[in-house]
Amino acid sequence: MIATAKKTNEIINKYNLKIKKGFGQNFIIEPGIVEKIARLSNCEGIAVIEIGPGIGALTQQLAILSKKVVSYEIDKSLIPVLKDTLSDYENVQIINEDFLNVNLKEISDKLINKYGNVVVCANLPYYVTTPILFKIFESNTRIDTITVMVQKEVADRFNASVSSSDYNALSVITQYLYDVKILMKVNKNVFNPKPKVDSAVIQFVKKDFIEEIDRYKFFEFVKACFKQRRKTLNNNLKEYINDSDIIENIYLKTNVDKNIRAQQLSLDKFIEMYKVYEELL
Ligand code: SAM
Repeated sequence: MIATAKKTNEIINKYNLKIKKGFGQNFIIEPGIVEKIARLSNCEGIAVIEIGPGIGALTQQLAILSKKVVSYEIDKSLIPVLKDTLSDYENVQIINEDFLNVNLKEISDKLINKYGNVVVCANLPYYVTTPILFKIFESNTRIDTITVMVQKEVADRFNASVSSSDYNALSVITQYLYDVKILMKVNKNVFNPKPKVDSAVIQFVKKDFIEEIDRYKFFEFVKACFKQRRKTLNNNLKEYINDSDIIENIYLKTNVDKNIRAQQLSLDKFIEMYKVYEELL
């Protein structure tokens, strides 16, 4: 079992590893946690894509449960380590590449064709959590379940409900595409090195029904409504749409008070407003 404090120290010493904070390296040292994340990822009997295997703590559990693990690690110095720590698992493929450069559609289609289905599971590097998730969200793949460990505050933002202080454009956009659930909180003490904040495991499951609208224009519209959080919806929209008749018509047709703030609008209301806006263009 790789994910123990003792084994992790042994591996660090054996390879004289310099832990790279710049790559967000915090290795899990609690076997129960990696087992649980792997189990909850629903990778059993199918393929799984992992981002950032580190020294292989979570990868090992994914390899035990799934048919195939494809894992992308940016840090070249970890590749020989992973070859060693995961040498017992023939179904693991480690690729030394920045996940942000990966052609996710191509690899996920290949894995679905061969193994029936694919999920994503990772303990994400915190410095690049949102870009990685948005890459997955926007890559137009058939991946329908994403299970990742992130900083607790970030998980709260993705999962936020309307009118709460964490609710923002990210919450609306994500919840338009996925059902979002926080599966568990994870204490900062189960990592080496120990990060400053606690983490949470969050799961995104693609919705069965997604309203057919131009999603990229919709995302822009939502971001514009939230542009300056303290400003009213009307003040933000005036910066985005320079035709006041259109703006007034949106309020009228959707029964929205222009003096509220974007954080008071539900996802359904954003969709309704966007549809009216599209019609009026
Ligand atoms: N999975 C391991 C675990 O749970 O113990 C390590 C997780 S650690 C938080 C994040 C890992 O992601 C590190 O190994 C880091 O080198 C790697 N990483 C950072 N940025 C990356 C990127 N853009 N693409 C691929 N891997 C990355």
